[in-house]
Amino acid sequence: MIQDIYPSQLINTYYDRSCTDADSVLMYRNGAVLMRDGRFPAVGECTGQRFIYLFSIDDIHYYGAPYEEIEGYAPVSLYALRTSADKVSAFAAVTGRHLMQWYESHRFCGHCRTELVHSRKERMLECPQCGAQYFPQIAPAVIVGIVNGDRMLVTQYAGREYTRYALIAGYTEIGETAEETVRREVREETGLRVRNIRYYKSQPWGLSGSLLLGYFCELDGDDTITLDHTELDLATWLDREHLPDDDDRSSLTSEMIRVFKHAGQSGL
Ligand SMILES: [Zn+2]
Repeated sequence: MIQDIYPSQLINTYYDRSCTDADSVLMYRNGAVLMRDGRFPAVGECTGQRFIYLFSIDDIHYYGAPYEEIEGYAPVSLYALRTSADKVSAFAAVTGRHLMQWYESHRFCGHCRTELVHSRKERMLECPQCGAQYFPQIAPAVIVGIVNGDRMLVTQYAGREYTRYALIAGYTEIGETAEETVRREVREETGLRVRNIRYYKSQPWGLSGSLLLGYFCELDGDDTITLDHTELDLATWLDREHLPDDDDRSSLTSEMIRVFKHAGQSGL
């Protein structure tokens, strides 16, 4: 999956570090990140002055900065980059996107509108006027593999470019457990009921600012699908042999489909 960059390692602890000319810079515009020949610009190539330390991967230090045009560089779509062979760059770009979106939407205090100041000790923005503290936000969401004997329920989203098969998915609402999210999303999007909900794996998914929680579960009762057309174009039961085994190795969704396809229900 996209976070599986071993033997490289993400070091996401914040520390108050001044950038050097050789450090990498992540700049975003419209869901794309600035690159040239598979690499990000270096601090020394930028004209801007505002660099925010984001994280390190091995000995490469990544900074975020406002977008600027740099000769020879062009925006590369994060959706295209996430399945590229360069897993470290793909993971850096989507993780940086999550952080930069948080920084960009937290410039002023929501209580008193004063400009926020970065803590020197941790990744936290603080209001010098009223003392309010703001920490990075991660939205939990579930991915649900519904199993019915030798079949699994797959979906396609309505009104999106993304046409691969997906699984039922949705954000956890305030006041509910992840297991309740599973039941609610399945019921809302397909009208189905499920039982035996089992946690599988999680995945950081910076493109939507989420932590994805993967669950397998079994159909409980009637298999008739009542589709929510505002969310989905399609929801259908596919036999294991007809499930896709595509080359997208980046997402938890595609891994869960492959796991069921090859291991079957007993292997889950
Ligand atoms: Zn304030």
